Amino acid sequence: MITKIADNLFQVKIPLPNSPLQSLNSYFLIGPERNLIIDTGMNRPECLQAMQQALQSLGLDLERTDLFITHLHADHLGLTGRLHRPGRRVYFNRPDAQRMAGDGRWEELFAFGLQNGVPSESLQAITKDHPGKKYEPTGRLDFTILDDGDQLAAGGYSFQCLATPGHTSGHLCLYEPQRRFLIAGDHILDDITPNIQLWNWQENPLARYLESLARVESLEVELVLPGHRRLIHDCRQRIAQLREHHRARLAEVLAILEDGEMDAFTVASRMTWDISPDWESFPVLQWWFATGEALSHLRYLEQEGRLRREKRQEKVVFARVA
Ligand SMILES: [Zn+2]
Repeated sequence: MITKIADNLFQVKIPLPNSPLQSLNSYFLIGPERNLIIDTGMNRPECLQAMQQALQSLGLDLERTDLFITHLHADHLGLTGRLHRPGRRVYFNRPDAQRMAGDGRWEELFAFGLQNGVPSESLQAITKDHPGKKYEPTGRLDFTILDDGDQLAAGGYSFQCLATPGHTSGHLCLYEPQRRFLIAGDHILDDITPNIQLWNWQENPLARYLESLARVESLEVELVLPGHRRLIHDCRQRIAQLREHHRARLAEVLAILEDGEMDAFTVASRMTWDISPDWESFPVLQWWFATGEALSHLRYLEQEGRLRREKRQEKVVFARVA
């Protein structure tokens, strides 16, 4: 489905089959000489087909089209290798590009899950089905790196790059100060909450995310163009809701740990989730994402001095600081 948002700016819905996200919002900016596509969909036939139909309907020539990718997740980056043409640019951020380039990143990720209580018998299904791994781009991508504050012109608009770490460590939004558009990737979503996950002890993604929300809150935004679901007209109201969501989550995690020390997987199993009535019937992959989400809250509380983190043989547990 293609919707015209403004002059030379179109939203294209790319279906994401079997994903609770439902679809990805790709944005096309059409210019007299160059076009820009923002975010692409997963590297799978259903996404490629929808993308090809949209290219045809809007008469976009890939030979004259650059790409901008908000962050490294496969639903945004996955099709990049298929759409990229030699000599055209793929704009991307430095931290996510470095993560992609790292050897053994999946092995490290899965080892981290085990350390945090994800049952080893479920790991095979998780490694097989993880959408980030299954639908990641093929081939080597040469990125043109954009940093915070860099400008990007497309479709007659002039965008500012806005580093918004949290959902990933390098997540970039694009802000257009004249029209007050914010191309938000997965930083701000409606209906669903952007997931904030932790997969290594060097980071504190929830703290970064809350800072990034405050940063966007200070901007004048009339229209948020998110990476999934519907457009958002009241940016500040949505930011307030997202902040409240995490405040409640942090309180929930602290309350769970009143029962004594436990690992992140066990904490996740006791948190409230809205996708399915009970933890045992969750798809195994949702256990994985829930554990990552629990971890970002545990880590935040640890850094605040409310929890301590300890090793018990191979496992990591958290306990309340009295
Ligand atoms: Zn994402």
